[in-house]
Amino acid sequence: MKFLLSPVHVLPSLVIAIGVWVWRGKPDGVLRFIFPKELYLHPSTLVDIKLALFNLLVFATGLFDALFFAPFVTIAALDMMTNLAGGQMTDETGLWRGVLAAALLFPTQDFCRFWNHYLHHETRVLWPFHAVHPSAEVMTPITVLRAHPAYSSLQAFLISALVGLMQAIVLIVLGGRIEPWVVYAVAGAFNTYVFFNGHLRHSHI
Ligand SMILES: [Zn+2]
Repeated sequence: MKFLLSPVHVLPSLVIAIGVWVWRGKPDGVLRFIFPKELYLHPSTLVDIKLALFNLLVFATGLFDALFFAPFVTIAALDMMTNLAGGQMTDETGLWRGVLAAALLFPTQDFCRFWNHYLHHETRVLWPFHAVHPSAEVMTPITVLRAHPAYSSLQAFLISALVGLMQAIVLIVLGGRIEPWVVYAVAGAFNTYVFFNGHLRHSHI
């Protein structure tokens, strides 16, 4: 929900939308082109808004946030892996270990989102929880929140488990010492991804 208003999402999407408006030869007023009222007042969009508000209530505790359980998974996995290795962690650090850590961490969340989505399409048990999403008749950035709480919960659970496990692997690879540039590399890669993958995924643009 927070991301809907986050400048990291809103500003790049606006820049791209204005670019598309110019590219198409300015067919309309710029505001009318980006926010057509027949889409934003469409009954389908009103369902999106109701579901978004309902989800806001369901997830208000933060208990189902992606990454909520990740630290617990990391601690348990780290414990298990260091025990298996006889309590030995590597003392080596270096550029390639940092690059490997960043390359492992960056796609993990997206990998979980992909599999959650794929499994909801491919299994009879899960499909009813996802069917509401592609039933949208028009798309606006709010449509991304048109989801059943079970769909979002399973996704959050998968992200928590896999990112938690990946963090343990990264800590092992880096001998417990994460250099700040590794964190910046992952954040930078993720924000670049968000730049092109923000609000416009669900929109007429
Ligand atoms: Zn789908």
